[in-house]
Amino acid sequence: MIYPVHAEVEQQMRPGALSEQGFLGPTESVQSVLETDEQTLAKLGVTHVTIADRLETILLNVIQQKFTDLAGWFDRMTSFPNFDAPTIAPQFSLNNLPDLGSGYLVGKLHIFIKQWRGFQECPWGCPANSRLGSIDFLILNRETGESFTGPGLIVHLIREHHFFEGQQSPYRVDPAKAIRVLAL
Ligand SMILES: [Zn+2]
Repeated sequence: MIYPVHAEVEQQMRPGALSEQGFLGPTESVQSVLETDEQTLAKLGVTHVTIADRLETILLNVIQQKFTDLAGWFDRMTSFPNFDAPTIAPQFSLNNLPDLGSGYLVGKLHIFIKQWRGFQECPWGCPANSRLGSIDFLILNRETGESFTGPGLIVHLIREHHFFEGQQSPYRVDPAKAIRVLAL
């Protein structure tokens, strides 16, 4: 079920409004993005809640690891993902897996997070989530070599708004790819 999105909310998603890069491209329609992704999930038989819950569990696990190993914090820190400069993100594959000295492991998933000072705000105007709203992540499945990136706010956007961000946004999480990497 897709609810109509108010024009003001869509305006907040454009580049240069709530975020410099934008949740949507300059001209793409949030409604058509929502419809396409809804069809993809229906076809794959996975719900938004399943994806959001799994992602949230993984990211909270990483944040907990980070705070229980303060000495290793600096070593485990990376400069990616950085959606302001996406081209510097490493292209991991089965032949090019990162060493285990940086990032965090949750099962077979290797996660890298970048912490920002501010919180990303929901374009629908929901209260900010201080735990996840200030991080960006890269999740790599070390068994398949496939990875995807996204902002921490995506957990909320997927669960509450069924929104994976626009095709033209660097923040977008491709739902089919996320389902494969997370082995859902
Ligand atoms: Zn919201």
